Amino acid sequence: MSLLQSLGRWLRLDAFPLERYRDRFIERLSMLATLILSPFVVYQLSRQEWLLAAVIVFAQVVMLTDGLAARRGTKPPVPYELAGCALAAAMCVSSWLQGVVALFWAFPIVLVYYMTMRRGTALLLTTLLVLAVGSIAGWNVGAPIAARLVASLVFTAIIAGALLNVMEDQQQALERQAITDALTGAFNRRHFDAELSRIEAGGRAFKESTLLSLDIDHFKRINDTHGHAAGDEVLRRVAEEIVTRKRLDDVLFRTGGEEFMLLLPGTGAEEALILAEALRKLIEQAQLLPEEHVTVSIGVAAHLPGEGLGEWAKRSDAALYEAKRQGRNRVVSAPGASRASSV
Ligand code: GH3
Ligand code: MG
Ligand code: MG
Repeated sequence: MSLLQSLGRWLRLDAFPLERYRDRFIERLSMLATLILSPFVVYQLSRQEWLLAAVIVFAQVVMLTDGLAARRGTKPPVPYELAGCALAAAMCVSSWLQGVVALFWAFPIVLVYYMTMRRGTALLLTTLLVLAVGSIAGWNVGAPIAARLVASLVFTAIIAGALLNVMEDQQQALERQAITDALTGAFNRRHFDAELSRIEAGGRAFKESTLLSLDIDHFKRINDTHGHAAGDEVLRRVAEEIVTRKRLDDVLFRTGGEEFMLLLPGTGAEEALILAEALRKLIEQAQLLPEEHVTVSIGVAAHLPGEGLGEWAKRSDAALYEAKRQGRNRVVSAPGASRASSV
């Protein structure tokens, strides 16, 4: 990874944790801002400062136009980035007309950037805003005040970024938690359904993909003999063995109590059977319980052209049940795929 890419990652230029709240935020903010700015319009009109009043009305109109569109759920007439620039321009014109007091608006404008835009865009617009504020203040009231204004504005941006980072981290942790099985670390059933539907809906074919249904043999007996905690440990270790053996692209799901599904993208029946057999042996030989071998039965189903998700998973499960029926601790391939293999 290049230095620039690393820097981009560190700065989280692509981050936008509030994206799904953006429209709601813009809708409410535009209404509130219009209310808050209205007394300033009245005040400037009373002083016959027509241009200043017009500048504030301009900012209100820009925000309201997008706010109303957000309320209706339609595309913003003024792209948010352009609206952000318009607010900064209004602040600059206002400071030209009435001096540095107008620069106080830079603080909420920075927060609006961070809340409504992707991090990279917010950072770019904030940099331009800071440069404008620094120049205007430096020109009008000298370096000491300009430096303090710039520094406090930069701090505001840093704090906004830090808060959004925390939010993004928490969001990711929660999302991860919602799709992960806490005991084994494998993805859960909900994610299995969602992920496969997503692939199917996205039109991405399961071409050359295979599903493995894996079930621990006589697990109830393991629980009964060694206790539930030992059963849990067996589950955890079985998942661990699968993870150490599977390839990076293969995805493991715990779809039931002692049932797992392993999705092998880009893997045909022959190759999948070899992997399934290797997994079966690996688990049988791993010392998961003292003086007892834990075994698994595995059903293998390579995806058939035009086959729906449900039918595919059903064929894989049917092969698993066939493996159980044949005596367990074996791999069985679903009809329609390659030859069956058993031990
Ligand atoms: P088979 O060889 O036919 O698969 O038999 P089995 O005993 O493995 O299958 P069965 O479906 O009869 O029993 C599954 C057991 O798994 C019953 C249930 O109590 C246990 N189980 C389900 N979830 C968990 C879990 O999270 N931890 C533990 N320790 N046991 C679990
Ligand atoms: Mg079982
Ligand atoms: Mg079972």
